[in-house]
Amino acid sequence: MSTLEHLAEREAMIALARRMNDSGLNQGTSGNLSQRVDGGFLITPSGMDYDALMPEDIVHMRLDGTSEGRREPSSEWRIHRDVLATRPEVGGVLHAHSMFSTSLACLRRPIPAFHYMVTRAGGENIRCADYATFGSEELSRHVLMALEGRRACLMANHGMLAVGDSLPSAFKLAVEVETLAAMYWRALQVGEPVLLDSDEMARVLEKWKTYGQTAVPTSRP
Ligand code: 13P
Ligand code: ZN
Repeated sequence: MSTLEHLAEREAMIALARRMNDSGLNQGTSGNLSQRVDGGFLITPSGMDYDALMPEDIVHMRLDGTSEGRREPSSEWRIHRDVLATRPEVGGVLHAHSMFSTSLACLRRPIPAFHYMVTRAGGENIRCADYATFGSEELSRHVLMALEGRRACLMANHGMLAVGDSLPSAFKLAVEVETLAAMYWRALQVGEPVLLDSDEMARVLEKWKTYGQTAVPTSRP
């Protein structure tokens, strides 16, 4: 009997895919997840209900785009492969059709510096990648461009994408981006949100380096 490689990672990925839908971040078989492993990456299969997924359904792909296993990989494997191949710091990629991010993306509106938390995605705004047909190389190129210097972007008339050093951190960022999109959407209902300037966004980006528990000494006297 052969043993399945990366079993723990496959199970964690399935749990996260279910959480992505249960939390309302995504619906149905839309969206997809990937995670870097030795010799390539693991990715969710195309068009399968997350509730029905078994560890064997997760596809193991190499960076050259070849794969092994009983399922077809996500139709967006090129985006996942291209991000993982060009961004060595990235360990996990999440794509979702979340409500507010996608609504803004249908208006081709990036998320500007309306709130300091926008910097969580790595810069002073969250760009919207140009439109191309789902699953195309062209879409992957557009996403890569929108992700330059960033950890998240919107995708025109389609959805959003977030990356992280791990898949759970990509998920956290996706929730943050969706929250920001919902806030921006609501603010737009009442008026034109006041934007923070580039100097302030640069200050905030700097502040993250010492935010939270990062300064706690490892040993106390
Ligand atoms: P897959 O089911 O092939 O992953 O496609 C879902 C999707 O969101 C395409 O953009
Ligand atoms: Zn999609």
